[in-house]
Amino acid sequence: MKTLITNGLLLTMNDSFDVFDKGFILFDEGRIEQLGQMADCPDAAASWQVLDADGDIIMPGFINTHCHLGMIPFRSLADDVPDRLRKYLFPLEQHMTAALAAQSARYAVCELLLAGTTTVCDMYYFEDEIAAVCDEMGIRAFLGETIIDMPTCDAKDADEALVYADAFIQKWQAHGRITPVIAPHATNTVKKDTLLKIKQLSQRSNTPVTMHVSEMDYEMAYFSETYGQTPIAFLDDIGLLEQPFILAHGIFIQESDISLLQKRQVGVAHCIGANTKSAKGVAPIPQLLAGGVAVGLGTDGPSSGNTLDHFTQMKLVANFHKTRWQDRALFPARDIVRLATIGGAEVLGMAAVTGSLEAGKKADVIQIDTKSAAMFPMFDPYSVLVYSAGPHDVRNTWVDGRQLVRDKQLIKADLFSIRKKLDGEMTEFKLAVERINNA
Ligand SMILES: [Zn+2]
Repeated sequence: MKTLITNGLLLTMNDSFDVFDKGFILFDEGRIEQLGQMADCPDAAASWQVLDADGDIIMPGFINTHCHLGMIPFRSLADDVPDRLRKYLFPLEQHMTAALAAQSARYAVCELLLAGTTTVCDMYYFEDEIAAVCDEMGIRAFLGETIIDMPTCDAKDADEALVYADAFIQKWQAHGRITPVIAPHATNTVKKDTLLKIKQLSQRSNTPVTMHVSEMDYEMAYFSETYGQTPIAFLDDIGLLEQPFILAHGIFIQESDISLLQKRQVGVAHCIGANTKSAKGVAPIPQLLAGGVAVGLGTDGPSSGNTLDHFTQMKLVANFHKTRWQDRALFPARDIVRLATIGGAEVLGMAAVTGSLEAGKKADVIQIDTKSAAMFPMFDPYSVLVYSAGPHDVRNTWVDGRQLVRDKQLIKADLFSIRKKLDGEMTEFKLAVERINNA
């Protein structure tokens, strides 16, 4: 069935940032067919679904370039504890089960869709179960099984995780909406030998790699002392950056790294919420963009960024970067909305497919309610999106032309029954939390 949305304020996020202040968009179950000003709107056929946007913002769905869908159970846990990764996250992940990861992912995808996110890049365990959830829920997803040099909840060592990753890639490679990726955990948790095996798998299966890189101060010190180079220069030396590469965080990217990232066309997932809550720092994003590096936004996992919506990330990008670089003119709101949409598509190598409203692209479209109190008046719709709007303002969400959120409610899923079931799956996990708290 075709969908025609009329009377919308269309922010296309195309190369010339075209805006149609009274616009229409027509798409089928798959691709965008036509868009423009209402004066050029075609007559609707009887079989079309016609929706009057009544001045709401119509724009491409948000693209979340770094997330951990299985980590909803960790949200609000030990947020203020230093080295929470080793004190809480790694020990608790031993209690992760396939059922818990899947139910967490189901909940997380609900949260993403309700917040207008239409594409997510994930790194976690039990990724096969998570892929089945993303398939069922209708979101577009890049999914990577975590490979790390320690025993995990679903692999006794990195070699077993590599076997899992290989089978996972073969199973999901031909899926239209799901793209398998390979997810080595981080430069300081995966050995060189394992990284070389990952490179081979990536080459052999033509699969992108995503990884936490230059995120920790101790990671930088280790690479400087051990190899006399940055983690990025090290990854390039072993040839891993020659593969399509999605680099998460990059807080400590050095000046010398930037040309390397540009040359290798590495995309950077900027996770400002997670990076600043953990007091790690603010990544040199203006310098990366000036150096021609693709940058998108990531929420990181629900335990690190806490919410999975890009409205929060966009506002944090504005506030932290303007303050960090002491420049009010830095990052006009339009540029931040760009990072959250087409910028993210560039990071994932999907700019020809999604990330902007253009005829021929996938119909990943959202409608933002412009009637809430903080959204009046609207001199600059990008400013309203960055500084005033929130996930509760997302009225409708379509992925691949299929409507998944209608009037702020999920169409195919019930958030509260999913939450109840997730809570039921968390019994053992909660006991393990208590044991750590009491230790
Ligand atoms: Zn992460």
